[in-house]
Amino acid sequence: MYDVIIIGAGPAGVSASLYTQRANLKTLIIYYGKSSLQKAENIENYYGFEHGISGKDLYELGIRQAQNIGVEVKGQEVVNVEQLINEDARFRVTTVEGKYESKALIFAMGNEKNRPKIKGIERFEGKGVSYCAVCDGFFYRNKDVVVLGSGNYAISEVNELINVVKSVAILTNGESSPEFRADNVKIETKPIEEITGKDRVEEVRFKDGTTLKTSGVFVAQGVAGSLDLAKKLGVITKNNNIVVNENMETNMQGLYACGDCVGGLLQVSKAVGDGAKAGMEAIKFIRKIHNS
Ligand SMILES: Cc1cc2nc3c(=O)[nH]c(=O)nc-3n(C[C@H](O)[C@H](O)[C@H](O)COP(=O)(O)OP(=O)(O)OC[C@H]3O[C@@H](n4cnc5c(N)ncnc54)[C@H](O)[C@@H]3O)c2cc1C
Repeated sequence: MYDVIIIGAGPAGVSASLYTQRANLKTLIIYYGKSSLQKAENIENYYGFEHGISGKDLYELGIRQAQNIGVEVKGQEVVNVEQLINEDARFRVTTVEGKYESKALIFAMGNEKNRPKIKGIERFEGKGVSYCAVCDGFFYRNKDVVVLGSGNYAISEVNELINVVKSVAILTNGESSPEFRADNVKIETKPIEEITGKDRVEEVRFKDGTTLKTSGVFVAQGVAGSLDLAKKLGVITKNNNIVVNENMETNMQGLYACGDCVGGLLQVSKAVGDGAKAGMEAIKFIRKIHNS
């Protein structure tokens, strides 16, 4: 078990780890996929680099700095998070390669949004379009649903739904078919035109004019983002950001969020400051539970 797990190895996550590890807390960083920082050609407005530095170099330096002080760093895609009740560990993080538990958890996953540009998605959010199988699957028991996506995250959502709903199909929306095979799960790769219905989702219309009747569309495109995972835990979000107080605490004890995923100024300097605060608060939290 870890004291602290941090999801994300950008400036926010690494900064948090520098505090928790140096406070002797066993810290794990898990990261997968692109950080915004890697996309920045040259960072010229961050302290200490007289000629600026490429985003890619700064990202790699950050990860090495964390590793050099003993932070464990794993490059694995996170597909699920759970809260554990009545156990020493409070959180379990599931990646495509394993499960890891911790006393405190820090979200530092940036602000990539996974909402696909398909007509009808926004209109039917909460009326048949869901972003969380574990939260909403029960409402679709004995119904036919689809999962939109083609990667590991989509498969993880299918596995959540498979024992609850009547049938589940994977719609890749033009992406190639995943390797996943199950007798009762159909895979459709045709590009999607629109999600339609009267008051709730009723069918998916494909670009070739064919349709598929469904009661629910579970969106799980690409890699799970901070909002997807926050929703699984019941964490409050607003305007596509995780809601935190001035100490980076979410509404859930032991869970912190920092950097771009909490909104505000989307810059390295702010992400680093947020990460430091989240790290310090996680330290206080763990010391408190040890002393109680
Ligand atoms: C093109 C561009 C140029 C920019 N230029 C500047 C600039 O000049 N100056 C400046 O200050 N800022 C700049 N920024 C913004 C800056 O890059 C971000 O504010 C900063 O990187 C945010 O840090 P973060 O740690 O919150 O998130 P990120 O750096 O985005 O890191 C997110 C981390 O989460 C991980 N992650 C996400 N999902 C998962 C998952 N499911 N499983 C495991 N890991 C996951 C990613 O792998 C990554 O490690 C720029 C951004 C872009 C896109």
